[in-house]
Amino acid sequence: MAKKTQSILSRRNALRLGTMTAALSLSAGRRVFAQGENFPTSWTFGDVTVTKVLDDIGPYDAAAAYPGAPLAAFEKNEDWLVPHFYDPASKAIIFSYHSYVVRTQGKTLIVDTCIGNDKSRTRLAKWDMRKGPYLENLRAAGVNPEDVDYVTCTHFHSDHTGWNTRLFDGKWVPTFPNAKYLFSRAELENVQARIKAGGGDATSYNDSILPILDAGRAEIIDGVRPVFDGVVINPSPGHTPGHHSVNIDSGGQHAVLAGDILHSPMEVLYPEWTCLFDQDKGHGVEGRMTFLKQYTDSDVTIFAAHFSGPTAGKIVSTADGGRMFKTL
Ligand SMILES: [Zn+2]
Repeated sequence: MAKKTQSILSRRNALRLGTMTAALSLSAGRRVFAQGENFPTSWTFGDVTVTKVLDDIGPYDAAAAYPGAPLAAFEKNEDWLVPHFYDPASKAIIFSYHSYVVRTQGKTLIVDTCIGNDKSRTRLAKWDMRKGPYLENLRAAGVNPEDVDYVTCTHFHSDHTGWNTRLFDGKWVPTFPNAKYLFSRAELENVQARIKAGGGDATSYNDSILPILDAGRAEIIDGVRPVFDGVVINPSPGHTPGHHSVNIDSGGQHAVLAGDILHSPMEVLYPEWTCLFDQDKGHGVEGRMTFLKQYTDSDVTIFAAHFSGPTAGKIVSTADGGRMFKTL
């Protein structure tokens, strides 16, 4: 009986996942809601607005993402993880791939450019030569690529740099032709050194980073870089050595666009878990710990790069001495 109930619930979740996919095919002019549900996609902090623009959403095997982690922990937390953050039927984390559009005083910054279209991604079939609706979603959010002033990638993994460029006449050109792309020097040197040593991801570097450098659209930044009034890029190494975050402080309200310091809200509860996606596993854990210590019980709203559904939340301490991610 219990098994039957479980399978009905699983089917229901599978149906919800189906709805998420449907949400991706929304045409321009309509507001996009992740997972087809009525979550907000824009938040305001003083004079600054943050808007989430979706490129893709889908499951990722939890055991592969967290090698050696006790998967029973996901079952224990299903009451708040399901359906937005975890699919119990496939034991998969639900990952969203989205940009944050930061707007203030008529200016626009895009943080992280997701996966991109037409890119050769032979290591992951679903993204290979992909045709996603990102630009339509962006326009639906009121953003024309030519009106974007700045772009930054929290780090140079291929799910954060893809829409830096688009294919035009057989060549990779900047998707945002009038934008300055704010690239971290530490991240650039890190990825270049890795490629030189035979590691790293040369394909995504060549189709998403190099064309920006060649087009003269990059500004190489060191450390803290104010972008607009109340919007500042800050180094947050850990996930990768040159990883950075974007802090918003406006009108007494605060937010942080945290990139991949956190991949799943489960890392708020279990920051010590080894995560597959961290370049150096120990540094990944260190970076997470530093971040959690800084923001627990603060009034800073957290926006991670891959949280789906309600997306935004705060980190709060729990009675047993742990931490929890409390969605807004
Ligand atoms: Zn990522």
